[in-house]
Amino acid sequence: MHARDPELSAADPEIFALIEQEDARQRDSLRLIASENYVSKAVLAATGSSLTNKYAEGYPGKRYYEGMDFVDPIESLAVARARELFGADHANVQPYSGSPANLAALLALCQTGDTIMGLALPAGGHLTHGWKVSATGIYYKAVQYGVRRDDHRIDMDEVRSLALANRPKLIWVGHSAYPRQLDFAGFAAIAREVGAYLAADIAHIAGLVAGGAHPSPVPHADVITTTTHKTLRGPRGGLILSKAEHAAAIDKAVFPGLQGGPHCHTTAAKAVAFREALQPSFRDYAHQIVANARGLAEALLARGHALVSGGTDNHLLLLDLTPTGQGGRHVARVLNRCGIELNANAIPFDPRKPFDPSGLRIGLAAITSRGVQTHHMPAVADLIADAIALAIENADDARCEAHRGRVREFLRAFPAPGL
Ligand SMILES: *Cc1c(COP(=O)(O)O)cnc(C)c1O
Repeated sequence: MHARDPELSAADPEIFALIEQEDARQRDSLRLIASENYVSKAVLAATGSSLTNKYAEGYPGKRYYEGMDFVDPIESLAVARARELFGADHANVQPYSGSPANLAALLALCQTGDTIMGLALPAGGHLTHGWKVSATGIYYKAVQYGVRRDDHRIDMDEVRSLALANRPKLIWVGHSAYPRQLDFAGFAAIAREVGAYLAADIAHIAGLVAGGAHPSPVPHADVITTTTHKTLRGPRGGLILSKAEHAAAIDKAVFPGLQGGPHCHTTAAKAVAFREALQPSFRDYAHQIVANARGLAEALLARGHALVSGGTDNHLLLLDLTPTGQGGRHVARVLNRCGIELNANAIPFDPRKPFDPSGLRIGLAAITSRGVQTHHMPAVADLIADAIALAIENADDARCEAHRGRVREFLRAFPAPGL
């Protein structure tokens, strides 16, 4: 925690102690949740600043309150840096998070009841791409595409035939659990053919796109939404980029369409994170994430594990537990007791229930931020595979505790940024 700790510890020892324990947990566990990362001390400092006290409904130069002397330049800097980072015509830095950003994109471009298309949740898509329990599946008529059964890749022929048959107003391309590159140009061609808007949701891969380790959707998509807290390594928040022609509609959809005052402290932290991502070292980071994911995939395959699609092109892998006969939930829980944090995840055509699916999602963004390199991947694979073996054996607490010690020992060489 940072400089104001003594005040927090005096004012609220209970919360202080819990945050301290969370710090220690983040330091001592192998964090493989694909949507998480470690932000820098600078990002944490901006997040914990006086800007949390400020209301700023509207946009720089057009606000509804006084006292904008400093929040206006902060938001303008955030916007300019986001545009530079992604090479986009327009940026809106106000979305509270990824889900509201997606809702704002829909509000800007569609009418309720319009047909939208997205990757189905069980195939690696996100709730907000039209899944039935999401507002996006309730207010819009959602058509969902999937992946092929044989190679687990998005089936562009299926996307095209569904688009031709359903004539969607908007097509989402993006994922939360898909280990392969996205064909933005292919999606754009289909969207053009059927007269749909193309919306790319790069929540998971924004850092890879910013760092040149994944193709960019910016030349292809009408609108690009993202979170700022996953591979992009900023504060929790959302960001929308768009072509100039959609700028006014996007801004109007975010405010006053969907949100009230922006979170100015988060805006400042986004600006800090964008500046960090503009440094050459961030390119190295993005490429290292992908190299680490490939290295880990190879090492896990060598240990006899199965991976959805046989490997990865991005920051994540989906380990298929089917050959082990185990459910994902049990294995994820045992791994957590062993000091390895990840989540159970559905795999394509999963025979098990969503609450206890057949896969484990493994992301490399957080441990790469700690400086773990490609040549460490066999050791990381051993930590994971040995813990899965403990789960299969239903190992007792003592053996899990011993494994947790091994994880802590491994991580000692890699200080956690920000903590
Ligand atoms: C994480 C994620 C979101 C939602 O982000 P929140 O900040 O959790 O609302 C949206 N889309 C995709 C593809 C994601 O992975």
